[in-house]
Amino acid sequence: MTQVQDTVILGSGCSGLTAAIYTARAGFKPLVLEGHEPGGQLSITSLVENFPGWPDGIQGPELIENMKKQAAKFGATFQLAHLNAVDLSQRPIKLTTSAGEILTRTLIIASGASARWLGIPSEQALIGHGVSSCATCDGFFFRGKPIAVVGGGDSAMEEALFLTRFASKVTLLHRRDAFRASKIMLERVKENPKIELRTNSTVDEVLGVEDKSVKGLKLRDTKDGSTCVIEVDGLFLGIGHEPNAKAFAGQLDLDGDGYIKTQNNVFTTLNGEVVPGVFASGDVQDRRYRQAITAAGTGCMAALEVEKYLEEQGR
Ligand code: NAP
Repeated sequence: MTQVQDTVILGSGCSGLTAAIYTARAGFKPLVLEGHEPGGQLSITSLVENFPGWPDGIQGPELIENMKKQAAKFGATFQLAHLNAVDLSQRPIKLTTSAGEILTRTLIIASGASARWLGIPSEQALIGHGVSSCATCDGFFFRGKPIAVVGGGDSAMEEALFLTRFASKVTLLHRRDAFRASKIMLERVKENPKIELRTNSTVDEVLGVEDKSVKGLKLRDTKDGSTCVIEVDGLFLGIGHEPNAKAFAGQLDLDGDGYIKTQNNVFTTLNGEVVPGVFASGDVQDRRYRQAITAAGTGCMAALEVEKYLEEQGR
């Protein structure tokens, strides 16, 4: 018979790993399914300057590696697998994963959110051939070349600033002329001589599909509808993220954008009723704060609720 886990954590980002540290330290030997993007968003970011305790900042991948070591030290185990299907209607909960079937008494969904794309065919055709959503992963390939970044939030600002290390010029394209980005990030962008800010601009087409490499962008002015072409060798998307919660549609309450709805930050519901033993933490349930520290915070809360639930079950 398949062994029943006390707790399985979906996702190995900041939230999942914090949940793993807490549940492991409480003796529940959590199994962490690392998911499609092991380490989550922090593992593809650069310097994290606002995680408390690191006055000089810490590299995202290093922070994640430290958390993983800390969880492993207390007995968490990790599996490089992702979720294909889940059945929350029975106990133990049944997970169908890329590594087989897993049964568990409790579940912490910390599957995070993934990068959003524009969705135009030329962009999709050139992903990995000059189109990227990860500046820290791919910036290196654009040494001495002109590139463009799309977005008006902190992610786009951070990407644009990071990419000035490599690119000859960074054109930052935003569809409006007001920004979601924080003042400090926007100021840094405006002060950087390598960055040209183009507001009221959208990408109609990425040029270069036939050559299998980005040659330029056809832009549209959102105010007067005029179009123009700019020559760039790369396009980076910094336009936000989608929650990874599709497997739970119909089994948990999701909001209009697909985020898991929670009560007290971590209790999941179905038709407004709390679903016992199933908790959600981090970006998959947080459309408002989306910070590393808040993801870690709700990961801790979910873990404490798992402990309480399992103790009530006599574990
Ligand atoms: P965001 O704040 O939601 O910004 C997304 C941006 O992309 C918006 O400017 C949006 O335009 C634009 N956008 C969305 N869909 C688009 C489309 N189809 N075409 C063109 N533009 C599109 O997301 P984020 O920048 O990823 O930030 C998320 C959270 O993480 C925020 O709380 C942010 O503060 C935080 N964060 C912090 C840091 C840091 O402090 N170092 C770094 C990264 C992220 P509109 O404005 O017109 O909607």
